[in-house]
Amino acid sequence: MVRLILIGILGAAFGSFAGAQVWRLRARQLVEDKKAGEKVSAKELKKLSPLIKKASKDRSRCLSCGHILAWYDLIPLVSWLSLRGKCRYCKKFIGWTEFLLEVGMAALFALSVFLWPMPLASFWQIMMLALWLAALVLLAILFVYDLRWLLLPDIVNIPFIVLGAVFAGIKLCLASDFTSTLTSLLGAVFVLSGIYLLLYLFSKARYGEDKTWVGFGDVKLGLGLSLFLGNWLLAFAALFAANLIGTILVLPSMLTGKLRGNSRISFGPLLIAGFLIVWLFSESILNLYQFIL
Ligand SMILES: [Zn+2]
Repeated sequence: MVRLILIGILGAAFGSFAGAQVWRLRARQLVEDKKAGEKVSAKELKKLSPLIKKASKDRSRCLSCGHILAWYDLIPLVSWLSLRGKCRYCKKFIGWTEFLLEVGMAALFALSVFLWPMPLASFWQIMMLALWLAALVLLAILFVYDLRWLLLPDIVNIPFIVLGAVFAGIKLCLASDFTSTLTSLLGAVFVLSGIYLLLYLFSKARYGEDKTWVGFGDVKLGLGLSLFLGNWLLAFAALFAANLIGTILVLPSMLTGKLRGNSRISFGPLLIAGFLIVWLFSESILNLYQFIL
């Protein structure tokens, strides 16, 4: 129990870290876009640019008043709750995202250790858990970033794939049945990434780069997710869950006519949500498959 609480606190700290990285990434993206000649919001750029100045690289600031935050403003969960989500200096509401990230990551870290399906006896087995926890931090950043700005930045997406490849590699080496583990892994990669790649390539060839049905970021995200799932049945379930959640969320606005058929929605957060649900319930899902097949 103590172990779970400690790992939960660690998760909350990493949730707080992920929240801070989201804004830094956004600031960097704006600067790059501006250099590339794209139109960026001057107001947003001005607000975020202090985050990437060298002198303040490691300091967190309030995004409203720019005040540098003290250590006691940055305690995960505690600071947000004691100030009821407001900045200590300008009293402006800083939003729910930070708090939800901290709570969510605390829960995910604790659940990961609690539900971890493998023994944690050898170095490599512990390494796999460490890789998984690191991947959760990257997923948190991708989730928030894509939800806000419809983009999965490569600077997070690529390291996520690398973590997944190492994770899958260790799993293969430890597997008692190498061939079936590899087959299932390749199946997962096809289901969660290959199908998207085909859809992406087809729609790109047919309708052009700006009108693809899926973003290339989703193809890359799907690759990372499938490497962690390593099982084509679970990959299929994750894809199904992502689409189901998406349909449930989109249906009300479709019916009221707020969302047209050609509106873009960010699919990354849905994929990540589907992936996490399937991962949490992987044992029951595999049992269910066995029952049906
Ligand atoms: Zn402030």
